[in-house]
Amino acid sequence: MTAQIIDGKKISMDIREELRPRVDLLTDKGAKPGLAVVLVGDDPASQVYVRNKERACEKLGILSVKHDLSQETSQEELLALVENLNQDPSIHGVLVQLPLPSHINEKEILYAISPEKDVDGFHPQNLGRLVIGDPLFLPCTPWGVQELLLRSGVQVEGKNVVIFGRSNIVGKPLTMMLIQKAKGANATVTVCHTRTRNPEFFTRSADILIAAAGSPGLVTSEMVKEGAVVIDVGINKVNDRLVGDVDFEGVSKVASLITPVPGGAGPMTIAMLMANTVKAAEYRIGL
Ligand code: NAD
Repeated sequence: MTAQIIDGKKISMDIREELRPRVDLLTDKGAKPGLAVVLVGDDPASQVYVRNKERACEKLGILSVKHDLSQETSQEELLALVENLNQDPSIHGVLVQLPLPSHINEKEILYAISPEKDVDGFHPQNLGRLVIGDPLFLPCTPWGVQELLLRSGVQVEGKNVVIFGRSNIVGKPLTMMLIQKAKGANATVTVCHTRTRNPEFFTRSADILIAAAGSPGLVTSEMVKEGAVVIDVGINKVNDRLVGDVDFEGVSKVASLITPVPGGAGPMTIAMLMANTVKAAEYRIGL
């Protein structure tokens, strides 16, 4: 079997284009969506991510406001900025780019973002709403994975899903999303992590295998069931090349559908961030 490739770039562009009329309608109503992105320090990867988010906003007609703060910014200064953005009526989404410098208490900053402007979906109130099946903002990367599956015609209901990774931003929220009694969900989900013994035992019966571990070469063809769908969320730099967590070449021979890295799950995150920002603006004016 040679797997068909899921084109995340194309699907993400489709999603972004679908948002355009909603942005136009909001703008006509005097409620142009606005996203504030806060970057602390000069981490090169974060700078690239922030630039990509700004570009996506510009292309869609979403107001994008970047706050570029020095590495030495204090906890109090950052909290004060978040508070200002919470109050700013032109801003509908507030995103603090992670990771933050080590002297900053990340949790306190994320908890300070108004849940109604939490377009990253990291606030405990939004994660709690996700758990009980009443989400406001879904975290962008897991939501992007769910959309990739939906838009590739993958039936998730009743399937065995194995997820590698239990982080608060990918693995855990994705687990919660896929077990919901909802469209694009209703799966039986197993989570593998660094303490899982013999992960092959679980992965070999997975209809859908999702890797979000940050560990290159983690998923090999022997671990994958013939015909499985494989989604690679991992982004790892190996010898100046970006690779995922999945041995793409080997696994492509066994899987039925697979995402490449780059061009798979990656571009979906920004598309879902745009979707959350539009949703935040609609929510504000009761649309
Ligand atoms: P993280 O380091 O916070 O979490 C990784 C998780 O994977 C941990 O829970 C750990 O238990 C598990 N894990 C690590 N190695 C493992 C192994 N060998 N076997 C089983 N489990 C293992 O990382 P994260 O923030 O969740 O990100 C995961 C990956 O996804 C990274 O490569 C990251 O770059 C990528 N990522 C991509 C996007 C995107 O596409 N836009 C967004 C977020 C993260």
